[in-house]
Amino acid sequence: MRRDMKSIDFNGLMDEFDRNHLWHPYTSAYNPLPSYKVREAHGCRIVLEDGTELIEGMSSWWCAVHGYNHPTLNEALRNQVEKMSHVMFGGLTHEPAVRLGKTLREILPDEFTHSFYADSGSVATEVAMKMAVQYHYAAGMSCRTDFVTIRSGYHGDTWNAMSVCDPVTGMHSIFGPALPRRHFVPSPESRFGGEWKQDDIKPLEEVLERHHDTMAALILEPVVQGAGGMRFYHPEYLRQAAALCRRYGVLVIFDEIATGFGRTGRLFAWEHAGVKPDIMCIGKALTGGYMTLSAVLTTDMVAKMISDNPPYAFMHGPTFMGNPLACAVADASVRLLLSSGWQEKVKSIESQMKRELAPAADMPQVEDVRVLGAIGVIQTKKPVDMAVMQRRFVELGVWVRPFGRLVYIMPPFIISPEELSVLTSALLTVTAES
Ligand SMILES: *Cc1c(COP(=O)(O)O)cnc(C)c1O
Repeated sequence: MRRDMKSIDFNGLMDEFDRNHLWHPYTSAYNPLPSYKVREAHGCRIVLEDGTELIEGMSSWWCAVHGYNHPTLNEALRNQVEKMSHVMFGGLTHEPAVRLGKTLREILPDEFTHSFYADSGSVATEVAMKMAVQYHYAAGMSCRTDFVTIRSGYHGDTWNAMSVCDPVTGMHSIFGPALPRRHFVPSPESRFGGEWKQDDIKPLEEVLERHHDTMAALILEPVVQGAGGMRFYHPEYLRQAAALCRRYGVLVIFDEIATGFGRTGRLFAWEHAGVKPDIMCIGKALTGGYMTLSAVLTTDMVAKMISDNPPYAFMHGPTFMGNPLACAVADASVRLLLSSGWQEKVKSIESQMKRELAPAADMPQVEDVRVLGAIGVIQTKKPVDMAVMQRRFVELGVWVRPFGRLVYIMPPFIISPEELSVLTSALLTVTAES
């Protein structure tokens, strides 16, 4: 039950110990942005300590596509925990890992013959980049260790992942001298659904022409750039970029960690372009937001080159690789998604957001409004005050976490039209106040 708005004691929602001793993401240890204490979550609702219910607009950062506390996913975990929670993946294997691997094979084109499980999205990026370098090493081209990417990207917070994040939003100025230097080209100007401008591909063409001798791979988020700017770009870029890479023997890595599992209206975002990568990273919604798990998928060509040449093994192996609980819930989540009619749901979320967010385009504060699949973005002209906005969103009964100039939602696919309307109208209200 929602309490009267005016009676919410926001400081009371923050736990003293939490504020004094737990470091939250991207904030100060001593003067942190507020954290709201969550008691439970179910369906599309996050329930705060005092009983306030918030309609979830973030899917816990792209993950919780089925909402929270889903009986099917709970059951998958309960069944697995009774058998075993974990065993090492070196020298051992188990049913959840095999089942998930088969399920992924079913939903991906035949070319993706091999899955490598990892712990998180960032680790998947590391694994993908290592795979590309080891591929060229195995092919006798150990000079190919460099990467090219497009600006405004986000690939995770670990060292190599960070090196291919946008240099500005990825804060390269702090870590710059310690980071490997990568090649950055401007991200495509041509918008998704707009006209294709051939000039967009030129910078990549030039970099590949000049540096292909040292280039291991192109890495990018297909069609939708997430945390680096919530940009939606023209799929033609992927077609031409992949063709260039093939011409120069450079591998293509698609980071589908945010976009995978239906978020953009296709199961995987590269389907908008019909272009398959050599290596692909998935994560986030893979487990329906229950646990951390990612996977790196690749082709026979890559797997064989690495396996047929010294050291005849891919040199990576996380401790919790193929964790049975994570694999069991991931398999259940993917199967649930496939049987959920997600295409229709995402389509109707898309058209409702297009309709209901459109009025924001006329606001003087707003630069752009865009919607693709179950992602709705209002881009403001000036950076927003996250703490102030977040508090207003909580007052309006929704969970939305803006950053920079981006006020955006990517709700669970199970959201009802009524709940979605509460979210979109909160977005309009709070943007108008900013
Ligand atoms: C979130 C994200 C990552 C990193 O995943 P983590 O699980 O946070 O390490 C990598 N790439 C993209 C596109 C992401 O959205």
